[in-house]
Amino acid sequence: MKKVYLDNAATTPIRQEVIDEMVQVMQSEYGNPSSTHSIGRSAKAVIETSRKTIAKYLHCNAQEIVFTSNATEATNWILRSAVKDFGVKRIITSRVEHHATLYTVLALQEEFSVEVDYVNVSHEGILDYKQLEELLSDETKTIVSLMHVNNETGVINDIQRIGTLAHQNKALFHCDTVQSIGKIELDLQQLPIDFLVASAHKFHGPKGVGFAFVRRNLVLQPMLFGGEQEKGWRAGTESVHQIAGMAKGLELSFENLTEEQKGITELKSYCVTKLQEAFPEVKINGANTFYNILNVLLPFAAEKTAMILFNLDMKGIAVSRGSACQSGSIKPSHVLAEMLTEEELKKPSLRISFSHYNTKEDIDYFVEVLKEI
Ligand code: PLP
Repeated sequence: MKKVYLDNAATTPIRQEVIDEMVQVMQSEYGNPSSTHSIGRSAKAVIETSRKTIAKYLHCNAQEIVFTSNATEATNWILRSAVKDFGVKRIITSRVEHHATLYTVLALQEEFSVEVDYVNVSHEGILDYKQLEELLSDETKTIVSLMHVNNETGVINDIQRIGTLAHQNKALFHCDTVQSIGKIELDLQQLPIDFLVASAHKFHGPKGVGFAFVRRNLVLQPMLFGGEQEKGWRAGTESVHQIAGMAKGLELSFENLTEEQKGITELKSYCVTKLQEAFPEVKINGANTFYNILNVLLPFAAEKTAMILFNLDMKGIAVSRGSACQSGSIKPSHVLAEMLTEEELKKPSLRISFSHYNTKEDIDYFVEVLKEI
């Protein structure tokens, strides 16, 4: 059966060059990076070269990159440490963040009675910057945790503006850049960000590895206790091949950025046109959206909502929905629930997310199948 993968915001296929790099590292760099002999030192060198590669593309210092097992781990660590070690008494976030942030914030609220304020978003998913500014005028020691690109709608937050507002008000800024890392230039020399997090599997790298950027002079406490790895912040023998694969994935993303950005942008606009031709009343969820994510509300009967993903899957199409189906009932996505009306939430919304591996034929097939549903 034909397979069409349009779920690249969930995860991306690994590039062949990344696989080759990882195999080579697994075969040759089997030493423990903490060992002092040459075989260990060679593995250590792979880690440090990877760190430098990542830092180079993000325009930061290699010492500011901390390897983790994924973005979720990095976010848990940073927010927890901000509350425990920096004396943060309040977290400002939004209800459309990924659960990695939202549930961490809730846990910290429960455990440390930290105050939590949520910045509203509009019907189109746009953050209320005025409200953010007002919230920040309060003197309470604060960390702002707001994402760059929303993983469900693709709505882009103005992180320059958020960071500037945060810093003007002496607040810290943690940014979930999982959906944008490797897909757009980010210059950490310029951006007023204190912490950011990323996962390699979102930029055609391996799963189970990610990193945090922690700005120089911000000293966190360890997330794991044990050895001296990662400055003692994250003890445990490093996954050398994963780290090397992540650096290779990021390098290739940046080396091909202009060309792939162009191709994906064209593909998204082709998809919008095709959907509008087939379903003139289709509506795009969110404004100012990122070039690889398209979230659409289909003008279908509400009864079709529960089975739509299943029906697409039966035809080999992988997309995801803005709603999660739980035991036959439809629970709207927490992101769309903040943006759409009750009536709109009953209808099927789909998240279609692209990569450079997609083609116009994929889109044609997807739209043809949708028409039959
Ligand atoms: N943040 C965003 C915006 C995401 O899209 C994801 C993954 O879907 C995460 C955080 C969590 O990433 P991971 O599961 O790799 O830790």
